[in-house]
Amino acid sequence: MAGLAVAVSATAALAACDIGEITEVTQVSWRAAADAPDGWSEVLAKPSDIKVTAYVTGEVFAGGGVLIDPSVDGVPEGLGEDQWVPSLSYLVQHPSGQNVLLDSGVRAGECGYQILLVLDFPCRNKPGQDVVSQLSRDGIDTIDFLVATHFHGDHASGLGPIMTRYDPVILASADEIDALKSPLRETQGYRYEQFAADMRVEAADNGFLEMPYIGKAADLFGDGSVWLLATPGHTPGHMSVFLNAAAGPVLMTFDAAHLEATYRYNAPGGLGADLDVASDSISKLTALADAMPGVALVFGHEPTQWTGDAIRHDLTTTK
Ligand SMILES: [Zn+2]
Repeated sequence: MAGLAVAVSATAALAACDIGEITEVTQVSWRAAADAPDGWSEVLAKPSDIKVTAYVTGEVFAGGGVLIDPSVDGVPEGLGEDQWVPSLSYLVQHPSGQNVLLDSGVRAGECGYQILLVLDFPCRNKPGQDVVSQLSRDGIDTIDFLVATHFHGDHASGLGPIMTRYDPVILASADEIDALKSPLRETQGYRYEQFAADMRVEAADNGFLEMPYIGKAADLFGDGSVWLLATPGHTPGHMSVFLNAAAGPVLMTFDAAHLEATYRYNAPGGLGADLDVASDSISKLTALADAMPGVALVFGHEPTQWTGDAIRHDLTTTK
């Protein structure tokens, strides 16, 4: 009976929300397969003067084995417990003048979401901490693309206000777009009414090349500066990002590895995730990072990477 009641309330919730239109477009001039680089050393030899700014948009409450699997050998005690962790959004300013936002963080106000209708992930932030407020303070007038690593509420509930203010093309993997369109999305953490908006989406699959260590990788500007990496498992179409910045290469795992220890011990966790696939993605990221001396790693929700009160961090400096 309880299960039926849950199913009925979920259906009612779906019917009640205005979901907006999802239109698939092809607007990116991806690097063609015929022009694929021979390897990452060729990419690293030509870094780009991109500027990267990290915005701490708020926090999400997670734990219970979601951030990390505490049963994996070596994982320090206590890391699998419930805790508030930071939720990030990143601005990448390309030398061409185009701006890319990597995820949109948590929205202002109520922003929690659920997995399987039972596991709650509440969010919180302070007034002015949401990404639109922070971008406005930085005088950012345009966002050309928004890379959605995945559509969980702590990464995408800020999407609606971004669409209203900037109307970027949203880049996500085809599997993630399918998951977003599914009538079952509310059970998988895709609380669409929080970012319901007419949106133009393009599948990163349009640009996927076959690259060493990681497999599918798409070169957004065709100049090797911003790469979208297929790292499924946490969600069906999760993506990570590699930034080939002149200030130093940066590999952003996003939720392929929530914590530094999730990466170090290859210990992905989480209800609803395919943990075998997630573990394989961490192995690929590790192999890629090992082939890039000096690469900086940024994890999905690692509290020790965002200490102090600052909610805005320059990750690169322009030359
Ligand atoms: Zn997630």
